[in-house]
Amino acid sequence: MDNVFNEKPKLDKTDCYHKKYVCRNCSCKFETLTLRTRALTPARREPDFFIHYSGIVPWLYEITVCPNCSIAIEGRLWDSMYIPDEAKLRFALDRVRPLNLTDFCWERSYEMGVVSYRLATIAYAYSGTKYYDRANLALRANYLLRTIGDRMKEEPLTASATDIKNEDLMNLSGSPDEIIKGFVTSSGFSNEPANVRRQEESFKRMALAMFVRAYETEHIETTRYGTAGIMYIIGELMRQFGDYKQAVRWFARVVQEKKCHPQIERLARDQWERAREAYRSEMKA
Ligand SMILES: [Zn+2]
Repeated sequence: MDNVFNEKPKLDKTDCYHKKYVCRNCSCKFETLTLRTRALTPARREPDFFIHYSGIVPWLYEITVCPNCSIAIEGRLWDSMYIPDEAKLRFALDRVRPLNLTDFCWERSYEMGVVSYRLATIAYAYSGTKYYDRANLALRANYLLRTIGDRMKEEPLTASATDIKNEDLMNLSGSPDEIIKGFVTSSGFSNEPANVRRQEESFKRMALAMFVRAYETEHIETTRYGTAGIMYIIGELMRQFGDYKQAVRWFARVVQEKKCHPQIERLARDQWERAREAYRSEMKA
């Protein structure tokens, strides 16, 4: 099987269009391929809101990347992002973007999708973007890497892929310089399942850290997930990391929240039970 990273999922012409942008950083005018909602075929949803799609996944085209300076921002935040130091940001993006990848405006490979999230992670860290938006970005990068990892499952996994140690993970929640160091020293874009899983876990850890900070310091009631949804996702990520005690606490808070969507409440009760059982059997061991 070919390297999944190099794979370019086929796009039907009617499933996408070219959207015009003016770069916030370098004023370059460009057009970039944008997916139409009808291109997406959701199959099923996981408890952490990850959706399995049959066919194209939305995360591949969610980040708009300027073909001139490589600044990368989600389409919905494009006009509102504040860029404090353009030259410094440009230098940082150049260090992380592989030399052979410059134009993200056309059909993207999975590799380009992952690079777009790396670039956006740096742009957001430099721009002091809200923790809530940084958390969402990291969660969606995790979804894309999970999609790639799942496709690789068709190939035999090496033992190391399932045995990632904490110290192997990149610190993507730190300062911009720490983040760049993490990306530059990580083993690039190899086809190794261990490398994909490692990046996947690093982004998940970043998402958790950022959601907690958003909960503590930002007005999150009006966000897409709402306060209850954010508390729920924090609990679910804690559970996935094996911190069952904390997960139980967060799920308990969710069901007490007054403005909680019934679907979130049901999910929270299910995952609360799972976390409680896991915690009990851990105590017995
Ligand atoms: Zn630009």
